[in-house]
Amino acid sequence: MAEDVYQKLCYALEQRPGRYRGLDIPEFYELARELFTIEEAAVCAAQPRGLQAVARIAGEMGKDEAEVAPILERMAEKGLCFTLEKEGQTLYAPLPLVPGIFEYQFMRGTDTDWDRRIARLIRRYKEAFDAARGVPEETFPSTRVITVDRKIEAGSRIHTYSQVLSYIEQFDLIAVATCYCRHQARLIDESDHCGAPDEVCLQFGAGARFVIDRHMGREIDKDEAREILERSEEAGLVHSTVNRQDIDWLCNCCSCHCVLLKTALATPKPGLFMNSGYRPRVDADLCTACSLCVERCPASALSLEADTPDLDSDRCIGCGVCATGCPEEAVTLEERPGFAPPPANRKAYREALQVNR
Ligand code: SF4
Ligand code: SF4
Repeated sequence: MAEDVYQKLCYALEQRPGRYRGLDIPEFYELARELFTIEEAAVCAAQPRGLQAVARIAGEMGKDEAEVAPILERMAEKGLCFTLEKEGQTLYAPLPLVPGIFEYQFMRGTDTDWDRRIARLIRRYKEAFDAARGVPEETFPSTRVITVDRKIEAGSRIHTYSQVLSYIEQFDLIAVATCYCRHQARLIDESDHCGAPDEVCLQFGAGARFVIDRHMGREIDKDEAREILERSEEAGLVHSTVNRQDIDWLCNCCSCHCVLLKTALATPKPGLFMNSGYRPRVDADLCTACSLCVERCPASALSLEADTPDLDSDRCIGCGVCATGCPEEAVTLEERPGFAPPPANRKAYREALQVNR
């Protein structure tokens, strides 16, 4: 009976989008049994797509609302499903493993025996998944980079979706949480820390409401959000998010721990996998060939063989980290020709993923 339930869970998670999905291997079941009670696994496997009232989910399972409601609430507290309050009732949506369930486990930044056990089990599952499946050859990227607004060259077209600051202006509710990638690494090995700031994972709108209500993050005002972006840029972190124009989260990623970035950088042409739509341009009159941009570039896209840095366009993800670090202000960002704009909304994004799967 328990075997059947966890197998159904595996199948349901296999159908959901994202880099890591359900896979019928022993490491999945070891992790799933630790994350989900058998009741939670059954509810998660039965959850229909989209935000649904308890009655609909209970109906799918042929159970009473009164029985399913507390299970869903417990799952939301554990980051195993998403919630939204609408017209006085709570709606519940299923989550994929990544981005979703895995990240929510570490956003509180807590360090308990259970956190450390889950961190290890998730890593083991990812390693086993990669060994079984390899790095996916995605033709449509599920994530994108947003470059540094203030370094975009005058005269370039700057779309609202290209401007990280525009998202801060757009949303009244913003939350910050712990970077789950760096925190997970430290839960596994205390010495595994690159020195990048930890509390820099931004959530907007409904995503922010969820992490605040479920005590995974704290509400911040626009000034603090802008200050977090500046701190992240100084530290050479890359602004990464879902490949849609209507984003609801923004990670500030290091190339040593961030799963999204590491996956892209492991490919021979990361610039085709994850991009902002901009690329750096160096002013030869200002450049002193100090090579700081070469050292800061997370994608190893720059080299300094001559008087000014050379760019490998296939590797460049357009993050702007070279520009923010240049002491001579010699680097600006210009539009990358042929860049396709991200899908406008969730529906267009889902369709693009489906077509390219
Ligand atoms: S950091 Fe600036 S000055 Fe130094 S090599 Fe790069 S572009 Fe030139
Ligand atoms: S050269 Fe490197 S640091 Fe500069 S935008 Fe491209 S990937 Fe980012």
